[in-house]
Amino acid sequence: MKSVAELKKFVIDRIESRKEEIISLGTELLNNPESGYCEVKTAAKVKAELERLSLTCRTGLAVTGIRADIKCGKGDGPRIALMGELDALPVPSHPFADPATGAAHACGHHAQLTQMLAAAEALLPIVDELSGSLAFIAVPAEEFQALDYCRKLIAEEKIRYCGGKPEFIRLGVLDDIDMVLLIHAGHDTFTPESYNGFCMKEIVFEGRAAHGGLRPWAGINAASMARQALNMIDAQRDTFDDKDSVRIHGIISNGGDAVNVVPAKAVLELQIRAKTPEAVANACKKVDRSVKAAAMAFGGKVTIHNLGGYMPYVSNAKLNKVHGDNLMELTGKVLGNFGHRGSSTDMGDVSMLMPALHAYSGGFAGSPHGADFVVEDPVLAYVEGAKLLAMDVITLLGDDAVKGKEIAAETPVMDKETYLKYKESMSSKEEFKYDQA
Ligand SMILES: [Zn+2]
Ligand SMILES: [Zn+2]
Repeated sequence: MKSVAELKKFVIDRIESRKEEIISLGTELLNNPESGYCEVKTAAKVKAELERLSLTCRTGLAVTGIRADIKCGKGDGPRIALMGELDALPVPSHPFADPATGAAHACGHHAQLTQMLAAAEALLPIVDELSGSLAFIAVPAEEFQALDYCRKLIAEEKIRYCGGKPEFIRLGVLDDIDMVLLIHAGHDTFTPESYNGFCMKEIVFEGRAAHGGLRPWAGINAASMARQALNMIDAQRDTFDDKDSVRIHGIISNGGDAVNVVPAKAVLELQIRAKTPEAVANACKKVDRSVKAAAMAFGGKVTIHNLGGYMPYVSNAKLNKVHGDNLMELTGKVLGNFGHRGSSTDMGDVSMLMPALHAYSGGFAGSPHGADFVVEDPVLAYVEGAKLLAMDVITLLGDDAVKGKEIAAETPVMDKETYLKYKESMSSKEEFKYDQA
């Protein structure tokens, strides 16, 4: 029987000896970027890699997702998922963009998959020394992109939510998982304390077209409704408590069709973000009141499409410490803590239900989601994170899984029933029609 220190040395040495193979796997995934729920080639590669390790894969989970499981050899312990995200982003100017689709790994999700697969390869020979079980999971569609495609899949009842992880939760794919570990691409090693959650809204104002010069009084101006709605939302910004970190931002995706026609239709697309589910819901109410008030003022119609979103992410201090201690042991570096982030990830959804590590690795240069976000140091981007994931598993499931059991026993933020109820409240459609003058 090996000690935890010996097991860690084994996985570090094994990953180090496969360094070139791991980097070439990362490069292959980088060169085949695909957008959310379209990750067919990427999923096939992940499946082939897991099958090469003699693991059996469940495929087609939430369209393109994959899961492979292995039970450890030494009795009961937590069920840990190592996770990687499959999707790329539409950034056609990225040097590694697919010329046909414009998709590019401008968020570095290919590095997550590489780390997860490399950690799996290193852990398999020693699973008999660990307690509990491991799941290797590739999850689609983190980026909340290609909304039209998502809405098509929702209409066809192939998915219910735009994010891959909420969809996994809804389908029960994570029901038998106690905690999740993921390392995201970045400039340096750190863990955020928390992320904002958000609700996405498409708000459609409808009025009446008329000649803009000849008889504008015969029209009902939908663009004016949209402008006044934005003004009312803006005027309420000082009602948001600083601690809730509320952000409301968006675009006017349709402001009318022709200059000489009073716009009969105007569309706003807004994201409403905040640090807690309650604060997101509260900010959504203020937005809804503002858009209804604008439609009422002009005697128009407004349809509020709530297109779902992501839950806020809350980190687990004990899981962060496990990761930080292993980073110190491996590299001598202190794990940074970036506090709260105004952006969002669907790992937030997972973190509502179980401890979830969403750490960052180094090795990338440029601006995330930008054309310049590229691998600068492949060892840091692909190899170091694999070692850390494998070491984290050994800390959690070695020594009869004492540490893992302690973390798995923590009370989640909410149960699945409450979670699904909240998600449905953020996935509704409401229409309000007011008398025309
Ligand atoms: Zn991203
Ligand atoms: Zn990302």
